[in-house]
Amino acid sequence: MFIQIKDLQYKYKNAKEAVIKDFCLDIERGEIVSILGESGSGKSTILRLIAGLECPQNGTINICGETVCNRSCFIPPEKRGIGFVFQDYALFPHMTVAKNIQFGLKKKSRQDKRERLEEMLKLVNLTDFANRFPHELSGGQQQRVALARALAPEPSLLILDEPFSNLDAALQEKIRGELREIIKKTGITSIFVTHDKEDAIAMADRIVYIDNGKVKTSVGRVEKQRPV
Ligand code: ADP
Ligand code: ADP
Repeated sequence: MFIQIKDLQYKYKNAKEAVIKDFCLDIERGEIVSILGESGSGKSTILRLIAGLECPQNGTINICGETVCNRSCFIPPEKRGIGFVFQDYALFPHMTVAKNIQFGLKKKSRQDKRERLEEMLKLVNLTDFANRFPHELSGGQQQRVALARALAPEPSLLILDEPFSNLDAALQEKIRGELREIIKKTGITSIFVTHDKEDAIAMADRIVYIDNGKVKTSVGRVEKQRPV
């Protein structure tokens, strides 16, 4: 298994009860898993635990054969090889598309940076937009820049936190298909969090339904039937 989460338990310091309880999830390499649940069910907390922004009181997380946290070890977020796409894209407004995408590549040579940028622009179909600023792009384009920025440093895992909630319904439908296609092209393992069932169905290879901090059910992708 590429990702193994076992018996995760998490309680916020000032809270009475644990919000994540015995949470278990296995993910195969290259799989897009959607964690679907109502507001307050614990989706963001799960992401924060996987990312290393919180440390669980109990349980283990393994990413790509490496234990990133358990009782005795805790690997910090920047060393977990995770790329993020946030709800509001969180692009740097004063930086061009190119600079945004290259942000995580500071240690690379100029040549490597240039090549990686070209590759990413092509992947998200924004080759002509390298010198634009985020406010000069549509919502869908901003989101593709956010995806390119997350993928540029070649993370082993991609995490998307409610990536469609800022888009109107028509755009949402178009974008989620695009996003799935791009992610599938790279083959990266992804965890995608949403409260919207339609989003989960459109994006995921498998939907994991979470309720009150626990996995309730897990359903594999049903491909649309082609008309006979
Ligand atoms: P979701 O992302 O599914 O909406 P969250 O993971 O944000 O759910 O929240 C799960 C539960 O944890 C909720 O009941 C929420 O009120 C609580 N919670 C979230 N953040 C904190 C915090 N910093 N301190 C205490 N409780 C929190
Ligand atoms: P999408 O295919 O992502 O839905 P839109 O239809 O929203 O794109 O946008 C169409 C074109 O208008 C795009 O090429 C985009 O760059 C341009 N555009 C959108 N918003 C702005 C803006 N605020 N300033 C400049 N150009 C913009």
